[in-house]
Amino acid sequence: MKKDTTIVSAGRSKKWTKGVVNPPVVRASTVVFDSVAEMKHATRNRANQVMFYGRRGTDTSFAFQDAMVALEGGAGCALYPSGTAAISNAILSFVKAGDHLLMVDTAYEPTRDFCNKLLKNLGVETTYYDPMIGEGIQDLIQDNTRVLFLESPGSLTMEVQDVPTLAQIAHQHDIVVMLDNTWASPINFDPFAHGVDISIQAATKYIVGHSDVMLGTATANEQHWEQLRENSYLMGQCTSPDDIYNALRGLRTIGVRMRQHQDSALKVARWLEQREEVDHVRHPAFTSCPGHAFFERDFTGSNGLFSFVLNRGNQAALTALLDGMEHFKMGYSWGGYESLILAVNGVKSLRTATEWQAAGPLMRVHIGLEDVDDLIADLEQGFARFNSCL
Ligand SMILES: *Cc1c(COP(=O)(O)O)cnc(C)c1O
Repeated sequence: MKKDTTIVSAGRSKKWTKGVVNPPVVRASTVVFDSVAEMKHATRNRANQVMFYGRRGTDTSFAFQDAMVALEGGAGCALYPSGTAAISNAILSFVKAGDHLLMVDTAYEPTRDFCNKLLKNLGVETTYYDPMIGEGIQDLIQDNTRVLFLESPGSLTMEVQDVPTLAQIAHQHDIVVMLDNTWASPINFDPFAHGVDISIQAATKYIVGHSDVMLGTATANEQHWEQLRENSYLMGQCTSPDDIYNALRGLRTIGVRMRQHQDSALKVARWLEQREEVDHVRHPAFTSCPGHAFFERDFTGSNGLFSFVLNRGNQAALTALLDGMEHFKMGYSWGGYESLILAVNGVKSLRTATEWQAAGPLMRVHIGLEDVDDLIADLEQGFARFNSCL
């Protein structure tokens, strides 16, 4: 079955939908049973999509979990109230005091903060590694290394990692390989075919797709599913069926949305590359992007999120550019239908294993579903304001 077809059909078993198109929103704390036998059955199968108690999920979450596994692969999908909760719970499910974790230097900022603050306090040591390290990861592995964490492309600076090589080396040492797969969404990178054990999504972004729900997922392969599921359950993780319903609804259009985001973003990126104010564009589909060859080899597409580096600029000029934007709004998220722009200060302070060097400020954009020529015109006027302040 082709991906677009799976996007439409996944998780729509009649068992969950009861014969309508979308599964109903089943809200529950208490699940009631009519007989001792029924209660016993639910208790025995509480981890296997039989309604038992609200925290274990209801038909709405079961449908979404089925859809995620159909699209991303793996043996099961755990749900969390945010992408950040998915990251922290996946890690906490596999480390204990005295363990060591390898974290990519280009990780999402709250992921770094979680390691530097919470994991450190629990006695788990983190070593950051260069996203381009490849086989060199071997030298950073210790006897107590339990988790290798990847994020590809990297946050803000977009380096694409050699996932299969990193995973293969990690597996020689019985290390669990986790990937923040949010940029690819469930459709542009197949984590399990590339050696990942646990794939994490901030569903908040492209799965929800409409900037109105916080949600996280972690799909795991057969070997790691039970430990992830049970430890996340012990940590009390559960999610609202209303939020899940909206995520499932968003998921149905992810294929067409992603294609449009991709096409418009590539057009904007190529336009930006020609601008004399732009030093370079950071987009995995561009040959200049670190790891571009891995993108070509491993991904089936891109999306609306990329960065570019200005070759000059000061705060007043940046403010003039940003304050006057008509279609691009400033915001810390991405993956919705709307365009966003951000001037990122202090990339340098978010890297410790590598050194970020750039001619000028880094700008990150999310190209939404507006007409692409309107977006380019908006940026063009932004550059005019920028230049008038230099
Ligand atoms: C947004 C994001 C997260 C966190 O997701 P939340 O739902 O906002 O907690 C994690 N990783 C990446 C790559 C993200 O972009």
